Amino acid sequence: MKALVHDGNGGISLQERPKPAIVSPTDAIVRVTRSTICTSDLHIMHGAVPRAVPDTVLGHEFVGVVEETGAQVAHFAPGDRVAVNVETFCGTCFFCQRGFVNNCEHGGWELGCRIDGCQAEYARVPFADNAFTRIPDTVSDEDALFLGDILATGWWGARIAEIEPGSTVAVIGAGPVGLTTMMCARLKDPACIVAVDLDDTRLALAQERGLADIVVNPHEGGIAAVKAAVRAASGGRGADAVVEAAGGTDTFEMAWRIARPNAVVVISAMYEQDQTLPLPFMYGKNLTFKTGGVDAYGLEEPLALIEAGKLDTSCLISERYPLNRILEAYRAFESRKNGCLKVVITPWESVGE
Ligand SMILES: [Zn+2]
Ligand SMILES: [Zn+2]
Repeated sequence: MKALVHDGNGGISLQERPKPAIVSPTDAIVRVTRSTICTSDLHIMHGAVPRAVPDTVLGHEFVGVVEETGAQVAHFAPGDRVAVNVETFCGTCFFCQRGFVNNCEHGGWELGCRIDGCQAEYARVPFADNAFTRIPDTVSDEDALFLGDILATGWWGARIAEIEPGSTVAVIGAGPVGLTTMMCARLKDPACIVAVDLDDTRLALAQERGLADIVVNPHEGGIAAVKAAVRAASGGRGADAVVEAAGGTDTFEMAWRIARPNAVVVISAMYEQDQTLPLPFMYGKNLTFKTGGVDAYGLEEPLALIEAGKLDTSCLISERYPLNRILEAYRAFESRKNGCLKVVITPWESVGE
């Protein structure tokens, strides 16, 4: 089969790889019908993900059709349409029992990182009973595509930010994860969502889709301007909850500066550099920081909201490329060509057919 492989040194290439086979009885093989490229794939390419293993097939966000199941897969069968969870987790260890599936003693972020992922024709998925969410007939592949990764991340971020009805929520970054965070935060009935980004096109999308009430571009005015806008929206207090989904050079500092005392600051961004926590300046602010990665579980609930039309991620899709043109898709995604937010990778199309 065809697969997109990274070399751990900044290089990616389309290669011929053997079709995956069942290794453990809890595995399943999925024929990939739609996958995407995630910013985390770029971080792996840049060598910024210490747990990533070179010479691995990239990709961890996908939907597909179950082809084959191991003997211990109880809840899914060949032919089922499924969204696949970014996290591989056993469901029974200390961490899994507490919902901390990202730290599963037998998994975590494995697909497209430590084991072969989904930017291929087929993928082997461990612990398939935990990894799959069944897609109802009324939901299309593309509508369920982001469920297991960026929508799960937005869902998780909005949950652990402890947003209450009437909260002022600031989301830093109006990229794919920032936008899904706003979508999920909106369901919690906040008084105001403030979106922050350097890209006016992304801010305009957030506002047009009703995901943000106020948008701020720190290009002029920097953190002080964002802080002023958030204070104006919150009776002078600052944000009750901040989700940092940008990972920029000063967005960590922005996150704690725009938070009100006793706020929750969620860091869902993935940084390529260390960040500074200037505790002398922060003393007395009594903040709670919660850091990623996502604990992606219980995705039946957001999928039901997709089916009910209450969560709609279709605005994130900028372009579609078949697997044979995935290198072009990487270039468009990384350079944000034509305002690219997310690309969808469709199955391989043989040239000339
Ligand atoms: Zn991802
Ligand atoms: Zn576990």
